[in-house]
Amino acid sequence: MTKTVEIGSVKFGGPEFVVVAGPCSVESKEQFQSTADFVQSQGACALRGGLFKLRTDPSSFQGLGVNAYQLAKEVKESLGLPFISEITDPRQMGDLEDVVDAYQVGSRNMHNYALLKELGQSSKPVLLKRGLAALFKEWILAAEHVAKSGNDKIILCERGIRTFETSTRNTMDLNSLALAKKETHFPVLADPSHGTGRADLVTPLALAAAAAGADGLLLEVHPNPPQALSDGFQSLDFSQFENLMKQLRSLLPAMDRTLS
Ligand code: PEP
Ligand code: MN
Repeated sequence: MTKTVEIGSVKFGGPEFVVVAGPCSVESKEQFQSTADFVQSQGACALRGGLFKLRTDPSSFQGLGVNAYQLAKEVKESLGLPFISEITDPRQMGDLEDVVDAYQVGSRNMHNYALLKELGQSSKPVLLKRGLAALFKEWILAAEHVAKSGNDKIILCERGIRTFETSTRNTMDLNSLALAKKETHFPVLADPSHGTGRADLVTPLALAAAAAGADGLLLEVHPNPPQALSDGFQSLDFSQFENLMKQLRSLLPAMDRTLS
């Protein structure tokens, strides 16, 4: 039985299906505000947006970091939506605590036990992504590191794993998503943006995840994906997001769920 976790006033893991959407990276006030306005208008009830980016290539955009704290707060407050963003280093906790409503732990940091233990001290929920090559068991044990350190407000997020298949960036492991729903009490989200790495595959895998029992979705949306400073190739544009939400609304009743 899933134990619900609240981020702000949004309940994860209950009968209502939750869509968290926003850009991969917060790039400017205008980019974040316009994306946030649009995703809210289509039914998203929480915002995502990276401030600190862990990029494979060190010459890639690393995020606006502390320079975006104020603008991120202004955007989320203007809409009254909770904001989830990745913490990449335990030293960010002090100030970031005042900006985010939940901490995202990224795939590259799922095994960072110092970070997990530090998050155990926070009163804010933790969205724990699966490591890109982590076993199901290692993912659940990572969640237990946070819980054992004092914070049981944990939401799991399946974001695809590295397999022998190279046609897509990652392989969405819906087996593990369904297994996490069966064997843990944590709410489970799906991130088909990173799970597929292709905007044109996000909608089918989002629907598949909802049908497989996900409690919600974490989605990358950008006003102009080709111009995005990170992950543009897998970001939905506004019309693709609108279409996904329409299809989700048709599917959810079959799962005895409605959109939050
Ligand atoms: C992200 O959500 O933008 C991100 C970096 O995800 P992941 O840690 O799953 O690669
Ligand atoms: Mn991304």
